[in-house]
Amino acid sequence: MKTTWLIALVLANSAATAVAYVPDDAWTTTASGRVSAGQGATLTWGIAEDGTTISGEDPSDLVSYLDDLFSETSSSSDLTSRSWFSVFQQSVDRWSELGGITFVYEENDNGSMVGGSAGRLGQLADVRIAGSYNDGPSGTLAYTWLPNNGDMVIDTGETSYFSRTASDYRTFRNTVMHELGHAIGLLHIESDTSSLLMEPYINTTFDGPQLDDIRGLHGLYGDVYEKAYSGQGNDTAARATSLGLLSSGGVLGVGLDAAGDQAVAATETDFVSITDGSDIDYYSFSVDTPLEVSLTLTPRGGLFQQGVQGGTQSTFDANARNNLSLAVYDSDGSTLLEQVDLTSAGGAESITGLQLAASGEYFARVLGADDSVQMYDLVISASAMLVALAGDYNDDGLVDAADYSVWRDSQDDIGGSLAADGDHDGDVDLADYVVWKNGFGSSSSGSSPLAVPEPVATLLAAFGMLFARHRRRALSRGC
Ligand SMILES: [Zn+2]
Repeated sequence: MKTTWLIALVLANSAATAVAYVPDDAWTTTASGRVSAGQGATLTWGIAEDGTTISGEDPSDLVSYLDDLFSETSSSSDLTSRSWFSVFQQSVDRWSELGGITFVYEENDNGSMVGGSAGRLGQLADVRIAGSYNDGPSGTLAYTWLPNNGDMVIDTGETSYFSRTASDYRTFRNTVMHELGHAIGLLHIESDTSSLLMEPYINTTFDGPQLDDIRGLHGLYGDVYEKAYSGQGNDTAARATSLGLLSSGGVLGVGLDAAGDQAVAATETDFVSITDGSDIDYYSFSVDTPLEVSLTLTPRGGLFQQGVQGGTQSTFDANARNNLSLAVYDSDGSTLLEQVDLTSAGGAESITGLQLAASGEYFARVLGADDSVQMYDLVISASAMLVALAGDYNDDGLVDAADYSVWRDSQDDIGGSLAADGDHDGDVDLADYVVWKNGFGSSSSGSSPLAVPEPVATLLAAFGMLFARHRRRALSRGC
């Protein structure tokens, strides 16, 4: 199956499922092995030598064409040293950094026909790029076979177009990046309200894949973190994607470049998605002081008009494709601390005021209830956890004589009010007096300690009495 990128009028495509980006099939087998749905895949790419047969075309003349176009003097067989090589390298790198595909350059090419041979490591790339004079200036810029083929043919009659140097050869790069979109399994989409890379007509007002193009990449191969751990992804706490250290007043986040409309700048790389109903994304964050944390999970993708090529457009809400839920797990990765699934698809989920008293690593888990791709962002913020002041039994932010009174009136009050249980052992006894005594004069505002307790003599007398009372009781129990 062959898909062309035209700048002239094109005919309607066949109807496709309404998922905004228009997917064909993802790769199932590459030179690097089998590909599982929604999991990352490695695709080798390379450039066919001039003279290589192309299915249905004249033999490739891409290398000599580009050498002329870029006034290249090198004739080395190592194409990576060519001045024009970076157009391709930047294009494959951009797709690679945005999601589950990893493009790797294959320097070997056994010369078999372009558009008809499967990739083999060390011999032939999965995606081979060739060139042939197609229809000259205008019309077709390039075309690409869909998976599992992925070969690309560039129209070597587009000299004035591809020689445009503006924005680092953006016209040429957008052509190549669009064709790579076909190579990974995306078809054309049209939108009256947004500008997307996978539209049938070239647009150079933006650089590379736009939001829905990236969503398409995620829908077929998952987000960039699905490539972690040799393609096992971040589906378990043990393989969580680390977001770093969370400090008081600090904020951590992931997926933050997906907010807003479909426009994506070439510098933006932070996009994550739940791929389908079986995908689970774990993130870890560490805490080294008691914190009160809040997490917000917001579905992203945008609202825009879309339709298949030549078809009727409709409003599409990419924010509401999958009902996401959010959970936080303790440092063991399995003890659930809190879980929320209060909203339906399109609604944000929040956990607020979760107190994490112990230092360590914690885990946030995102999963979806539905079998469709959903972009999102996750933001985790923290404030200092208010820790009770030791010995402040009346909770007024000051450890003073009034707290002694609370202790005195509740000591031995097992099972009743434990306001004066300073050592948190379930009773109010002498040890809690010691907590009060040690904390005497301190305040939650950090101001200087109070003067030495005035009623020292009184307190010590009371202490002595109590001690005596306890002793008597102890003795009587001993008899
Ligand atoms: Zn196209």
